[in-house]
Amino acid sequence: MNERKGKGLSFARRMYAPRAVGTGLGFVCVMIGIWPQQPAWWTWALLVAHGFVWPHLAFQLARFSTNAFRTEQRNLVFDGFAGGCWAGVMGLNPLPSVIILSMIAMDKMAVGGWNLLGKTLTVQLLGIGLGFWLYAPALFPPTTQAQMLACLPILMIYPMVIGFICYQVNVQLGEHKRALAHLSKTDSLTGLINHGAWKHLLLSAFERCRANQQANTLALIDIDHFKQINDRHGHLVGDNILCILSAFFPAHLRKSDPVARYGGDEFCVLLPGTTPGQAGEILERLRQAVEDYRDPALPQLRLSLSIGIASYGPHLGDAEAWLHEADMALYRAKDEGRNRVVWAGGVGKVSAVSAI
Ligand code: GH3
Ligand code: MG
Repeated sequence: MNERKGKGLSFARRMYAPRAVGTGLGFVCVMIGIWPQQPAWWTWALLVAHGFVWPHLAFQLARFSTNAFRTEQRNLVFDGFAGGCWAGVMGLNPLPSVIILSMIAMDKMAVGGWNLLGKTLTVQLLGIGLGFWLYAPALFPPTTQAQMLACLPILMIYPMVIGFICYQVNVQLGEHKRALAHLSKTDSLTGLINHGAWKHLLLSAFERCRANQQANTLALIDIDHFKQINDRHGHLVGDNILCILSAFFPAHLRKSDPVARYGGDEFCVLLPGTTPGQAGEILERLRQAVEDYRDPALPQLRLSLSIGIASYGPHLGDAEAWLHEADMALYRAKDEGRNRVVWAGGVGKVSAVSAI
């Protein structure tokens, strides 16, 4: 089933139950409404078919159509035409006619907006004309007590059904909105925070540090010689390694430490509340774990990380300056031979300067 057909069919499926409820309740209302006209047997047969067969037929038409969406739209327009016919046959008896016509107009507005409502009102007029032409009833006959009572079920139940459907659509919309918001902040390959969301996070972390003089350490992490890994083993293996390394972070960091894929083979981490020494030790353990990692499928593969860290300090004018310090530390880690952690304020491996 193609995607378009799938969407059209789910639309038709959404309409199935309300149509069945609406035509079933409408049957009672119309039956009492047209009673005074003493209609021919085929009119009764049509009313029964409309009330109890049409909802199922409409769904089957959409189900077997090559364009389920368009077929369901036609079904909806037909609902309007049929409703108009019954209102015409009963001579526009005020209460049942208004209820039938307005219930039909309400659900068309709910599912198709002004466009579908416009089409529905047009075909309702045509239907009214046909009903009048067939039965030539007296115009606006007074509504009897029985006709009024017969209108009550549809008047009470149908708006609730439509309201419930609108509520379900609203709930689904909220879920989709949340899923989209999550997707827009997530790196599709690794599932980590993406570059755009990271920038916001860093900015607010910087503002918090400045306002409260909190300790926080920023780390930039880059995979060593990743291009060679791609060249030797292919980009699919490269992608897989990015995912494997992403899974190292939760094991070595706290749940609250944000980790992002900065881009390419570079990651960044924030370690709120840590001194450079503590952050250095945490990242040194991460570096060691990656160095010790052996891929069962590629036992000859060796992985290593270069990590630059910079702690927040009042000398930093903005978040960019903080990022720049971490970047400079990362460059030094690369220059000094890779596979090491370098602190922006220190020299050499952090393990060697853990007294900072
Ligand atoms: P260095 O040790 O200096 O960091 O060298 P490097 O090869 O790791 O760094 P370089 O910047 O030269 O290359 C980074 C490579 O990362 C190049 C690019 O093809 C690869 N890369 C970036 N994004 C992806 C990705 O999503 N998947 C894969 N497989 N490779 C990627
Ligand atoms: Mg690299």
